[in-house]
Amino acid sequence: MSASAHVFTWCPRCRERLQTRPEGGALRPVCPACGFVQYLNPAPGAGVVLLRGREVCLVRRKFEPRRGTWSLPTGFMEWQETAAETAVREAREETGLYVRLTGLYAVETGLLPPDRPVLVVFYRAEETGGQLEAGDDADQVGFFPPDAPPGPVAFAAHRRVLERLTAELAATRKDDA
Ligand SMILES: [Zn+2]
Repeated sequence: MSASAHVFTWCPRCRERLQTRPEGGALRPVCPACGFVQYLNPAPGAGVVLLRGREVCLVRRKFEPRRGTWSLPTGFMEWQETAAETAVREAREETGLYVRLTGLYAVETGLLPPDRPVLVVFYRAEETGGQLEAGDDADQVGFFPPDAPPGPVAFAAHRRVLERLTAELAATRKDDA
């Protein structure tokens, strides 16, 4: 995937034109005047895998990219947050529910369309309160079987989490029988 759309032409510190130079094992935009280096990294996010029985909480995206498609409640980390704090906050903002994290579920890398690499930390979570109500950048929220979401799922990373969850739920159903 190309990073070209994200590369600065001008130094954001001193406005000099950046040059491409080897820096730390890769070719990167470097400012010849002040030494600024543009490191391109995936953007980190976090979210929750929250179940009610055998159904998982999904939200519908209110905004682009992929407006109208569904995802697990997730969002980008703020500057001074831990991943766990991000997951709890995003759950609260998008679903109206207060949650407690009960463990790490998956770490996925993916692409936010059109071309933004992201890393998403998914935690297992339990409800502790609140009232189910879509908010922030979600316009619908509900609990659905992970193999039967109410519409297309926005991102491959989220689809992988739902596939894994489906397999785990199928395995526990067998155990029950
Ligand atoms: Zn500079």
